[in-house]
Amino acid sequence: MMVSDIPAGPACGRVTLLGAGPGDPELLTIKGLKALQGASLLLYDALVSDEILALAPASAERLYVGKQASRHALPQDEIIALMLRLAREGRSLVRLKGGDGYIFGRGGEEAIALAEAGVPFDVIPGLSAAQGAGASAGIPLTHRDHAAALVFATGHLRADGQGIDLDWAALARPRQTLVIYMGVGTLALICRELVAHGLPADTPAAVVERATLPDERCITGTVTTLPQLALEQRVRTPALIVVGSVVGLRPLLRQAGAAT
Ligand code: SAH
Repeated sequence: MMVSDIPAGPACGRVTLLGAGPGDPELLTIKGLKALQGASLLLYDALVSDEILALAPASAERLYVGKQASRHALPQDEIIALMLRLAREGRSLVRLKGGDGYIFGRGGEEAIALAEAGVPFDVIPGLSAAQGAGASAGIPLTHRDHAAALVFATGHLRADGQGIDLDWAALARPRQTLVIYMGVGTLALICRELVAHGLPADTPAAVVERATLPDERCITGTVTTLPQLALEQRVRTPALIVVGSVVGLRPLLRQAGAAT
């Protein structure tokens, strides 16, 4: 009999799905800190910083399961299989993800697998990159005079490489702020589609790279100029794209002493 066939029983471990926040370790929640301090086993992703990992006891086992090409990593189904196996063996673990696990973090898939397997789990939210970027770059994501709606979207290309699966007409609507995750590689396509679907070509837009970390950069322009600016400035992932007139508030609100 394989371990995966063993039903979750009373001796089953507990899984804590923990959002580590956008980067600055101090933006971890108190609940998250307590979970880390009590952890004996961590499964963590690429965007989780060493400072956050250091908050767990030195004796805690740390397994990297992220998806960064240069480091050893597991496909999503293997991460889930590993989590279930460990829990069934009686190991309690903290599953650490960047930002919030339920926002473009595949936390939903992992929680569903745990629920279906009968493995007890908790979910501790984290500040998502959008919230961190808004605060540190000086871009309030909503403002009564600018945006009555806030949309989080993915800029990830479809599996067949043929564009991005988004409702462009909805994203191009006025009086909203659009935050795009995973959109650095597709920035030009995103800006082109938004304008083609009616967003004014002079709409302010920003890219916030490594938000809340000491080397954060924010580059601002419009949906017409931003792709070229980002290319010239060699913007790299992780970075968020923020589109909407709230970006125009940054000159007043950027944090004093910020480098860019
Ligand atoms: N669950 C995470 C998102 C994971 S998807 C969250 O809630 O924040 C990965 C994408 O998140 C990156 O491609 C980038 O777009 C964004 N991201 C994560 N951390 C970031 C950071 N510190 N600065 C800017 N963008 C970040």
